[in-house]
Amino acid sequence: MLLKDKVAVITGAASPRGLGFATATLFAQQGASVVIIDLDAEASRSAAAALGDQHLGLMANVADEGQVNAAIEQVLGRYGRIDILVNNAGITQPIKTLDIKRGNYDAVLDVSLRGTLLMSQAVLPAMREQQSGSIVCISSVSAQRGGGIFGGPHYSAAKAGVLGLARAMAREFGPDHIRVNCIAPGLIQTDITAGKLSDEMKQSILAGIPLNRLGDAQDVARAALFLGSDLSSYSTGITLDVNGGMLIH
Ligand code: NAD
Repeated sequence: MLLKDKVAVITGAASPRGLGFATATLFAQQGASVVIIDLDAEASRSAAAALGDQHLGLMANVADEGQVNAAIEQVLGRYGRIDILVNNAGITQPIKTLDIKRGNYDAVLDVSLRGTLLMSQAVLPAMREQQSGSIVCISSVSAQRGGGIFGGPHYSAAKAGVLGLARAMAREFGPDHIRVNCIAPGLIQTDITAGKLSDEMKQSILAGIPLNRLGDAQDVARAALFLGSDLSSYSTGITLDVNGGMLIH
């Protein structure tokens, strides 16, 4: 088992078909104690309970500093350490540049970018004390190619911000043996795109994917396992593309 005795915190992991829950399930199978943090307390608790008794589900809005710090305090109170953080919570909005209002900007940037910063700030002191840790941030192919399929420009900006933040944290915390890396998923079938993908759109998207299929949550979970575990012990500041070849660069 790759994560025996490790404690992993995963944000946005209560959505049953989402990337976060797939990652939580794989991490639990690999021996980790998993903490699911999501907006709804009951959904977080039941998602964690579905993984087994040693796991924990907590409510926090990742963009709210007080809620984030309270959740991490609970995690440290119960487990005494945090080995892995997966910054996965995110939302998207399919709107164009001229339609982005302050509220749209704030909503999207707050969850992906502020959330990644606040969660990282909350766990880094414990990781520094341990002199070990791995932070995995979920960005998007949208950051790299200037738009994915559903996200607007503010989503691309938020996810590009995550890449910069992660690289800078990797540089700053490398001397403390804390690694920080990103995953840039392509189009993965989860609830984030549910109901918005017509057959026609799907065919045109597939034409641009050399592996000729959309991704599934397992594809991203396995990449998160690589980056979260010691399998990637000499990698920090990298971006791992999980996009079927949609973007080869
Ligand atoms: P999803 O909608 O299935 O899950 C997102 C989860 O985040 C939900 O459980 C939601 O409740 C939670 N969440 C939203 N706002 C939150 C907040 N403020 N605080 C805490 N939790 C919050 O989406 P998904 O497809 O599993 O996406 C997971 C991550 O992957 C997101 O960051 C998304 O932007 C990114 N991503 C997804 C795709 C894709 O094609 N599915 C592609 C690239 C990147």
